[in-house]
Amino acid sequence: MSTTSPRKPRVLILGGGFAGIYTGMELERAQKGRDDFEIVLVNSENYFVFQPMLPEVISGTIGLTDVVSPIRRLLPRTELHVRDIESIDLGRKIVTTSPGFRPQGHSIAYDHLVVALGTVTDFRGMRGLPDHALPFKDLGDALHLRNHIIHALEEAAIETSDHELRRQLLTFVVAGGGFSGVEVVAELNDFVREVAPGYRGIDPREVRILLLHSGDRILPEMDASLALFAQKKLAERGVEIRLKTRLEAASGTEALLAGGERIPTRTLVSTVPAFPHPLVEKLALPKSKNGRLTVDRRLQVDGTTDVWALGDCASVPAAEGGTCPPTAQHATRQAAVAAHNIVATLRGGTSRTFDFKGLGKMGSLGHRSAVAEILGVKVSGFIAWWIWRTIYLMKLPGWGRRLKVASAWTLDVLLPADLVQLKLAGSRGIAREHFEPGQEVFHEGELGDRVYIILTGRAQIVKDGVGTVAELGPGECFGEMALLKESRRNATVRCLAAMDVLALPKSEFTMLAAHLPDLRQSFERVAARRADPPPS
Ligand SMILES: Cc1cc2nc3c(=O)[nH]c(=O)nc-3n(C[C@H](O)[C@H](O)[C@H](O)COP(=O)(O)OP(=O)(O)OC[C@H]3O[C@@H](n4cnc5c(N)ncnc54)[C@H](O)[C@@H]3O)c2cc1C
Repeated sequence: MSTTSPRKPRVLILGGGFAGIYTGMELERAQKGRDDFEIVLVNSENYFVFQPMLPEVISGTIGLTDVVSPIRRLLPRTELHVRDIESIDLGRKIVTTSPGFRPQGHSIAYDHLVVALGTVTDFRGMRGLPDHALPFKDLGDALHLRNHIIHALEEAAIETSDHELRRQLLTFVVAGGGFSGVEVVAELNDFVREVAPGYRGIDPREVRILLLHSGDRILPEMDASLALFAQKKLAERGVEIRLKTRLEAASGTEALLAGGERIPTRTLVSTVPAFPHPLVEKLALPKSKNGRLTVDRRLQVDGTTDVWALGDCASVPAAEGGTCPPTAQHATRQAAVAAHNIVATLRGGTSRTFDFKGLGKMGSLGHRSAVAEILGVKVSGFIAWWIWRTIYLMKLPGWGRRLKVASAWTLDVLLPADLVQLKLAGSRGIAREHFEPGQEVFHEGELGDRVYIILTGRAQIVKDGVGTVAELGPGECFGEMALLKESRRNATVRCLAAMDVLALPKSEFTMLAAHLPDLRQSFERVAARRADPPPS
């Protein structure tokens, strides 16, 4: 493990989101001409994501790379480490990052630490959600969702025999009626309803798009009249809004609601809940009830002299009382104050406090409509949408990117939506899947495409005309028969008690079985035992 010892005082920023990048920009501004401290930033990716425009990636209104900017261009004087942060040692003032090409971590010493790690989407403790709900937070999530929607449409267009599967493929569910959930469902709805008529095998009336929200109105952060406007607009465009409805669990084919209702779907997006970052959770520093680092109005973490925190991972006192909401507009203003105060500490100047009151709130509803509350003035419809676009366009870092986005928006008015499904991953790999009691994992006669290993729960194997032939529990596998013999499923497997499984696709199974004879033989023994059970 290599250790870099700083010569000049070093400010180490963890995270390259709004909070981290803007802190870096302000520090670079202060550094000019003096060069009396170093700036190092660690981020998992080498780009900054402009999250407010992320939902537009779903419909392809703007290009994938238009919502991101290379950090090296934004912060030319900062030393960038594109690595995952593994640990933070506050006592030794060292941050360790994950190995790169060499199997060694890297330690970075600091004098001042800026924690700007944001939050994480975490479906911990929610049955089946970790396996089947799609998060929506970063570029990968947006691309994955877009590809998944197109895949569902392509499959639905040729699925003529299984009506239940068609229904699942053409039902799209978004859980969470806050800003991101509303923006995601609006873009998803616009996209699917625009492209569906182009598929000869899909009747657009079959498409269902639902927004689930636990409160009694969507956009709880906004004035009620604007939230009601948003509800009306979305409903007019075909979004079914289900209020006072809580998503409780998910399987690969259903969204399960509290109260027992089941919505058949193959596309479930959940924009809730945001959890504290695991690295922040581990820090022995004061935190609020929701796990955010508590800071004073100078953005210094309570009880420290060299640790600063801001953005979504910090609980920052708001000028109007309470704490700041987790928004980009707050993160960027906090960055200016934190950077000023770090420089003041290094050079011995006076510090500033964070007094920003928030300029307002805006939410896009797609289809040239939005809601906005700016400096107390409420606007909705086309004017709000125009303001939304102008403000965010001007906030995008760099003129080049602004030009690209402006031209993409202009072309979007003239050209039909792009339907290209980018297949980036060569294989699906091993995946976890969740099943609820009564659900079929596969049906007798279907083509075998994967092997399953039960992690928790129980399943029964049923043969047509015979009945139940076996019950399986944790540690047991099923589905091997069709893969070993390259034939169709010779039985139906149904979940008996809520079950988590590991699903190994055929290509991976075949590869492993070819190179690990013991594994193949053990699967063959299981298959032989099941084909010819000993007399009881
Ligand atoms: C879909 C969506 C739409 C939004 N729309 C708006 C809007 O219209 N207006 C608004 O004001 N706000 C909006 N927000 C909220 C806003 O984007 C966030 O408040 C803001 O991004 C918070 O910035 P941050 O820097 O604190 O966290 P983040 O932006 O989450 O940045 C955290 C950074 O830390 C990095 N990181 C995390 N863990 C590690 C690790 N272990 N190692 C290395 N790097 C790591 C991440 O890669 C990321 O770059 C939206 C959010 C979403 C998801």
